[in-house]
Amino acid sequence: MTSESTYPVVTLKPKKALPFFSRHPWMYANAIKTITNSPDVGAEVVVLSNDGKFIGRGLYNPQSKIRVRLYSWEEEQLLERPFWERRIKAAIDLRRKLFGDGPAWKACRLIFSESDGLSGLTVDRVDDWLVVQWTSAALIKHQAEILEILQAELSPKGIWLRTEKGIKELEGLDVSDGLLSGERPPRPLFIEENGLQFGVDLVEGQKTGFYFDQRENRKAFAGYADGANVLDVCCYTGSFALNAAKQPGCQHVHAIDSSASALELAKGNAELNELSAKITFQHADAFDALEELVAEKKRFDLIILDPPKMARTRGGLSRAIKGYVRMNRMAMELMNPNGILMTCSCSGHVTHEDFEQVVARAALDANKTVQILEERGQAPDHPVISSCLETSYLKTFICRVSS
Ligand code: SAH
Repeated sequence: MTSESTYPVVTLKPKKALPFFSRHPWMYANAIKTITNSPDVGAEVVVLSNDGKFIGRGLYNPQSKIRVRLYSWEEEQLLERPFWERRIKAAIDLRRKLFGDGPAWKACRLIFSESDGLSGLTVDRVDDWLVVQWTSAALIKHQAEILEILQAELSPKGIWLRTEKGIKELEGLDVSDGLLSGERPPRPLFIEENGLQFGVDLVEGQKTGFYFDQRENRKAFAGYADGANVLDVCCYTGSFALNAAKQPGCQHVHAIDSSASALELAKGNAELNELSAKITFQHADAFDALEELVAEKKRFDLIILDPPKMARTRGGLSRAIKGYVRMNRMAMELMNPNGILMTCSCSGHVTHEDFEQVVARAALDANKTVQILEERGQAPDHPVISSCLETSYLKTFICRVSS
């Protein structure tokens, strides 16, 4: 029996197949000509080009703009347990290769959705717990077997579910945060990063609890902290601030965030690492706080700007760019001569080139000369997959600012 006869078949319109032959996993409704058998949410489908060539196997969701998420490009690779097991093991193997038995093995992203061939699933490891996040109502149908595989591979003490805002509207996915298996995570859990201890709150913390994507960038940041008066804007639980403060020569760090609960954890983290004396925390809106610092003519030698995603949609891009320019302009104005600015954007809609333009525009507005020393991205446990460049989202530029 051929796969075409046992699985619903999605046939594409003419000239729509190229991205999917190129292994892009998101198939929107406008690419689809016909679908046989009216499949349910989560059904495995076979995708064919208009002229009947096999393209791949995917999971169907009639409620999502992404009608089919593709996972397999080989006709014989059915989307069943052995397939998920291979994908999950491959993802875990990569982190093992990257981190060995080092501390990051217990503080990293184990599965990064499209980048690990598992569109719609993110898994972080935090100490002996896993945090799972689903962004696909189709893939979640495989939750039971995927959790079994994770349990067998990693023996976590517990698996906690976090949900993403807006996912019900996007995917028809109606789930809420909670324990999926094992024990509830202590609050906080503790992880080690770059020789520092951090408390992570899986239950109430932002996103999945900790921003592992900046791990290596924080290390690079700390490399500039010797002798520096430092400003950490959007500090969350204090990770950049602490990485800088740990440098023996670092003078002082001022850290700002608008989340009171994040700042509570940040203060706890500073105490835990005996760095409280070097760090002040401010509960404020970043733009307001920067304006005040500029007005007071405060000066810093090292600044990190790590704001939340400012462009959630393509439509929001020009507003977001204005926000980034304003924030960067103020940071540049706060610089001592030849200070170092690490500036970040985690908006996928803002390209690398867009962000270079942001820096250029802010430099003009601040009347400064800016040298971009390094253009960095996300940590390697958040790989960018070449077939889906939307997985490249983080831009972290290190700049020297002079007058
Ligand atoms: N630098 C952090 C991650 C920052 S995430 C780290 O490496 O862990 C973005 C942070 O910006 C969050 O902590 C969020 O609470 C904060 N935030 C969001 N909007 C803000 C605003 N208007 N002013 C200040 N902080 C803001």
